[in-house]
Amino acid sequence: MFETTIAGSLPKPSWLAEPQKLWAPWRLGGAELEAAKLDATLVAIKLQEDAGIDIVTDGEQSRQHFVHGFLEAVNGIDFTKRVEMGIRNDRYKAMVPTVTGPLSLKGRAHAAEARFARAHTGRKLKFTLPGPMTVVDTIADGHYGDRVKMAFAFADVLNQEARGLEADGVDVVQFDEPAFNVYMDAATDWGIEALHRAAAGLTCTTAVHICYGYGIPANVEWKATLGAAWRQYERIFPALAKSRIGQVSLECRNSKAPLELLKLLDGKDVLLGVIDVATDAIETPAEVAAVIGEALRYVPRERIIPCTNCGMAPMRRDIAAAKLIALAAGAKLARERFL
Ligand code: ZN
Repeated sequence: MFETTIAGSLPKPSWLAEPQKLWAPWRLGGAELEAAKLDATLVAIKLQEDAGIDIVTDGEQSRQHFVHGFLEAVNGIDFTKRVEMGIRNDRYKAMVPTVTGPLSLKGRAHAAEARFARAHTGRKLKFTLPGPMTVVDTIADGHYGDRVKMAFAFADVLNQEARGLEADGVDVVQFDEPAFNVYMDAATDWGIEALHRAAAGLTCTTAVHICYGYGIPANVEWKATLGAAWRQYERIFPALAKSRIGQVSLECRNSKAPLELLKLLDGKDVLLGVIDVATDAIETPAEVAAVIGEALRYVPRERIIPCTNCGMAPMRRDIAAAKLIALAAGAKLARERFL
C-alpha cells in the first residue's frame, strides 16, 4: 500500500554534466561518457533504494533532456539544423532539431541504461519516454507538414523502444506528456490515441505523466498566470479514464489543481505528486501524508502511488536526495495513519 516512485529524473553528478541546468552539456565524451552515465545510474538507483523508494528509475542519467535524449536514437532528424522554437504554447524558447525525413529507430535508444539498471536493482523498475504529443512540441517539422501525422510517426518509433524496454525487464513504461496540460483539445482529439499507439502491445504497466513542468522560472511564472484554480486536468481526465493507459502521474503538492478532479480518473492508478520540485524547501513527512490523506477522499487507497510532482533534473543534488527521503517517510506515515 502506498508504494512510492518518482516522476523520473534526478540531478546528475557534477562530473557528468553541469549542475542545476536543463540541457546541461556533458563533461566527458566518447567511451568515458558512456561509462560515466552508467556510474551515475548506479548512484541514482542506490539513492532511491536507500531512501526507501519502491519503484525506482535510472534517474534519466543517460540523457541530456527527456525529449532530445530519445531523439538522438531516431533516424530522420537533423541535429545540425537547430531552430529556435517557442515550446509549450510559447512558454519558453528552446533550440530544437528538425525532422528532415521519414522517422525510424536507429536500433535502440535506452537499452544500455535500462539493462544496467535492471541488473542492479531488485526493486520494480520504471522507465520513462517522452509522449508523442510532447515530442512534436519539442522539434521542428521539415518533412511531415502535419503535426498529427508526425506525432503518429513518432508514436510508432516510441512503441518499438517501449517494447524493447519491456523485453529488458522494465516493469513500468511511462510516457511524459506535459503538453497535454497545454493543448487540452488536441490531447483529447488525438493525443491519447497517439499515446495508445506508443503503448500498443505492451503487457507491462503503462503510465502517463502530466505536470505543469520542471521548477524552472518560465514555468513558475506561467503557473502564476493560471488563476486560483487550475482546471486543465478537468478537460483531459475523462478521456484519460477511458484510455488504455494504466497509471496517471500528476502534480498535486502545492498545486492549485483541485484534488477533487481526481474523481474523474476512476479506474486508474494515481501517481500522486506529493513532492514539489519547484522549491528547495524539504517536505515534512506530515506534509506528504496530508496530500495523501486529501487524495484518499477521491481515490481508492490501493490506487494511490505517492510520487514527485515532476522530474528533479534541474535541482540541487542534496535537495533532491532529501526529498526522496521525505517522500518515503511521508508514505510510511500515511500507511500508519490511514490504514
Ligand atoms: Zn513533469
